[in-house]
Amino acid sequence: MQKLDYARPVTTGAAIATLREAGFGARVMAGGTTLYDLMKLDVETPQRIIDINAIEELSRLDTSGDTLEFGALVRMADAAEDPRLKAEFPILSEALWKAASQQLRNMASLGGNLLQRTRCAYFRHGEPFACNKRNPGSGCAALEGANRNHAIFGGSEACIATYPGDFAVALLAMDAVVDIEGPGGTRTLPLADLHLLPGDTPDVETALDPGELISAIRVADPVGRASTYHKIRDRESYAFAMVSAGVALRIEEGRIADARISLGGVATTPWRAGDAERHLLGLRLTPETAAEAGRIAFEGARTQTHNAFKTDLGARTVADALMIAGEKA
Ligand code: SF4
Repeated sequence: MQKLDYARPVTTGAAIATLREAGFGARVMAGGTTLYDLMKLDVETPQRIIDINAIEELSRLDTSGDTLEFGALVRMADAAEDPRLKAEFPILSEALWKAASQQLRNMASLGGNLLQRTRCAYFRHGEPFACNKRNPGSGCAALEGANRNHAIFGGSEACIATYPGDFAVALLAMDAVVDIEGPGGTRTLPLADLHLLPGDTPDVETALDPGELISAIRVADPVGRASTYHKIRDRESYAFAMVSAGVALRIEEGRIADARISLGGVATTPWRAGDAERHLLGLRLTPETAAEAGRIAFEGARTQTHNAFKTDLGARTVADALMIAGEKA
């Protein structure tokens, strides 16, 4: 059994100071639903756990104004049940409801959810398999192995692991930002810049510097009611996305004035389908225009031996999501 220290600061400042003092061997613990899982698999081997659950300022949930504010410690279930999100921003509510199980949603925090790590089996189960994310420089077993679940966008020769989350995909379509606290103070980062492409360093997954933690997520001026999070998976509950699409539309005088499309389950980070969004502007939403947008969204996909099916499945998922969102306009 590995010995570890435990700290439970009650302010964000104290948490940052503890993180700084502990250095690389420390891990922040919120809901613990991912961290404990990975500790059991020896993927995570922290020397110190910094439990941030006593920091009240991180639990603020305010969806009453023009800007939606989510403290990093807000539980997934609490945000999913928020009446205004359910009524006016279904893309966000649905992304939360369709993730994990009720028990996990009761525990898991929104900040932790954004930072959850890949479900690549070679990463999680390790030896004897090569994995550059778990053991930099060792290779990538997925490239020649079982890669049905892996990415068709954003991969590199070093890693093709899929980003597994749903909420971040929905937030990406909403142009969300994250507030980050660290030794240098507070900074704000577009969510689009939080998750890093694997490149040559797939072990470096986010733009968080050592000693930093996410304090809040904010969505200013969100596109709302005509939206959905459409998630396709191997079973209807408690499964990660094979393909998902977050879609939000603004339709004026019968034509699309704003289109947001983000993709999950297909890329190494939450993925924005910008070309498909631009294609839709000024068009009427019909099954044909939706299908064409879906096709455009998956242009340039780089498939592996076992996941070429994701291209067609993804195009149809986007098309269906557009029609579902359009019915709410
Ligand atoms: Fe590791 Fe990434 Fe390859 Fe999976 S895809 S084995 S996480 S390097």
